[in-house]
Amino acid sequence: MSESARQIPADRYAARLSACREAIMERRFAGVLIGVGPDLRYVTGFVGEPMERITLLVVPREGPVSFVVPHLEAQKAGATPLVRGGLAEVIPFDETDDAAALVADLFAPRQLASGAAAWEPIGLSDRLWAMHVLALQAVLPGRKFEPASAVMRDLRQVKDADEARLLSLAAAAADRTVDAIASGRLVGRTEAEISREIRGRLIDEGHDLADFAIVGSGPNSASPHHDASDRVIVAGEPIVLDIGGTLAGYCSDTTRTVWVGGEAGVAPEPEFVRVFELVREAQAKATAVVRPGVPAEQVDAAARAVISTGGYGEFFTHRVGHGIGLEVHEDPYMVAGNATPLAPGMAFSVEPGIYFPGRWGVRLENIVMCAPDGASVLNRSSLDLRVVRG
Ligand code: ZN
Ligand code: ZN
Ligand code: ZN
Repeated sequence: MSESARQIPADRYAARLSACREAIMERRFAGVLIGVGPDLRYVTGFVGEPMERITLLVVPREGPVSFVVPHLEAQKAGATPLVRGGLAEVIPFDETDDAAALVADLFAPRQLASGAAAWEPIGLSDRLWAMHVLALQAVLPGRKFEPASAVMRDLRQVKDADEARLLSLAAAAADRTVDAIASGRLVGRTEAEISREIRGRLIDEGHDLADFAIVGSGPNSASPHHDASDRVIVAGEPIVLDIGGTLAGYCSDTTRTVWVGGEAGVAPEPEFVRVFELVREAQAKATAVVRPGVPAEQVDAAARAVISTGGYGEFFTHRVGHGIGLEVHEDPYMVAGNATPLAPGMAFSVEPGIYFPGRWGVRLENIVMCAPDGASVLNRSSLDLRVVRG
């Protein structure tokens, strides 16, 4: 894959920043403070891990945007598309400086040419650590803070064309990984060995990180977030493979359930086949209701109706899906109570499951995008019941 295929063009960041400021204006926030995490990556292109030293993009309603960073990160911050494009200025601080006070200064009345008043709230990014929030509260006494997600949610949940491209690339890489595992050796190996192989393959397929590789065999397949244990896989049982990571920052997440027949070709028990087909139908029906304007909760309801009618409603124990982008779980959530209307560009999982504790479980998961005329399904690997030799 060429490097440029993995990149977000620089002018996207300018568009994102101005959309962010428009949302700040609409919300009548004094501004937002964005710490290290997906919001920061979205607006600036900065990739990093949160730490004890504060790193904050300060976006006031009007006026200059400042990128407050510890000295050792100044070069990295300076290389982000937002700063290179002249849209934010790096303000480095020394180890002995009071960084929170420096940030507070940027919100002092003389800095706010826009006339933003002291009572207007400041938005804080969801992933900002409590230690930084408490420090900011201490230097900005009386100031009201609100979640910056009020501003960021609407921007991030609708993907632009570059984000859609990266999500597709990530999905295709995960598909190839699942297919390779399903057609490879399984019997006699531990879940943990297979999980390691999945992680390696995801990286070989172009992922920068392999975040999770759930391998739930036999009774472990009934635990939706089972990791991978040293249980040895045997013939005559299912395996739930739920894998994902990030490619150029964008997440993959797909699940396939396969039946391991072994050398003797042990056929799946009839109830497994019935449940598998029900889950597959629920997955298809939920995907079929996706179109602009449909409330997110209807996607969940469509899957649940199929499974309840089939008599297994009580064994479908989680929402049908979650938004996906720079985070593997983000808005919009496909869950009862979320009336958010779907819009073109929203990307989310459709992943119904049925689980019998102590016996086995089945889950099938695709990432879909809402397109103008329906669902665009990013995962292409087969949803048929695969009885593999393993
Ligand atoms: Zn999950
Ligand atoms: Zn998953
Ligand atoms: Zn998922």
